[in-house]
Amino acid sequence: SLCFHGIEPAPKDPILGVTEAFLADESPHKVNVGVGAYRDDNGKPVVLECVREAERRIAGNLNMEYLPMGGSIDMIEESLKLAYGENSEYIKDKKIAAVQALSGTGACRLFADFQKRFLPDSQIYIPVPTWANHHNIWRDARVPQRTYHYYHPESKGLDFASLMDDIKNAPNGSFFLLHACAHNPTGVDPSEEEWREISYQFKVKGHFPFFDMAYQGFASGDPERDAKAIRIFLEDGHLIGCAQSYAKNMGLYGQRVGCLSVLCEDDKQAVAVKSQLQQLARPMYSNPPVHGALVVSIILKDPNLKSLWLKEVEGMADRIIGMRTALRENLEKLGSPLSWEHITNQIGMFCYSGMTPEQVDRLTNEFHIYMTRNGRISMAGVTTHNVQYLANAIHEVTK
Ligand code: PLP
Repeated sequence: SLCFHGIEPAPKDPILGVTEAFLADESPHKVNVGVGAYRDDNGKPVVLECVREAERRIAGNLNMEYLPMGGSIDMIEESLKLAYGENSEYIKDKKIAAVQALSGTGACRLFADFQKRFLPDSQIYIPVPTWANHHNIWRDARVPQRTYHYYHPESKGLDFASLMDDIKNAPNGSFFLLHACAHNPTGVDPSEEEWREISYQFKVKGHFPFFDMAYQGFASGDPERDAKAIRIFLEDGHLIGCAQSYAKNMGLYGQRVGCLSVLCEDDKQAVAVKSQLQQLARPMYSNPPVHGALVVSIILKDPNLKSLWLKEVEGMADRIIGMRTALRENLEKLGSPLSWEHITNQIGMFCYSGMTPEQVDRLTNEFHIYMTRNGRISMAGVTTHNVQYLANAIHEVTK
């Protein structure tokens, strides 16, 4: 007989729990800086103009046939240009195996499954800390996990020396998960010079870099600049893997559109790898959804819409950068004895504030401010209307 009665509820996702608590709070002052989704200066979700225009072009004009198993050819082609460069010889030489994925999460999972199937004895090195779902993804793919040093709590910056040691001490040919830009949750990225040293050391050790690029454009406002780490590794002749997501940089969160690519030694290998990635997708979801992929390819293939997109990404990044400055200035104006320089040094959607779980609890209980207990502030939730209130509350619980 079936015995589901022994099943306990799964533990609550810490981030979704924050949103639930926020929604249940009736205070007019409440602030949600938990969720990793962009908001405008009124705290409202944003649909980009370029996306609305692409939708207008789709509406009533296209059929709803299945995409090929590997997804939209146009979307993949444009995604590769964004990640590897408009004129990448790897694209021309067809050395990249790429499939449409269910956003960044699906791309990571597909890669993890690929890794398990074809390199069953390999492990994955994951930074400390990282996006919590990375652990779940590689756990469920049954790939053993190791960690590497990344964040330095005292400096609230990169622990570069320990990171380099961990790279050197890992067995030759290890898989490393790297955040391509706008590291989540810390907002701390290596500098260009540091990336060059990391890339060099990867070469020495024969490690394989897997880039999770969930925020291309969100860090600096310019997708080209945010691809710098990947370009450095490409210059150095690495084979790489890459997970791309359009959730954040096109605001297509719920559309689940992304791309998984693997740079191979030659075109023949790329054909083989692509067919195996498709083979992994087939029994899971058969083929990916069509609408979001169409939106992306329409935008990226039309020079006018693409430049509108670039302007809009820059606008989102600029608003966040402006809020970093405002939050820091407000804290300094209040006479906070602590240094808040890291708020403006960190980059991307998040600020890893350094607040303790107890301080976060006080923010929530006394000030109706909601965020994860690791002290991560989603800068996208900060607005000109709440920044002063937020700064005051942070000052109260940290002074
Ligand atoms: N990787 C990182 C580091 C992220 O922060 C996120 C989203 O929060 C993702 C991947 C995947 O997001 P999605 O699956 O919505 O593209």
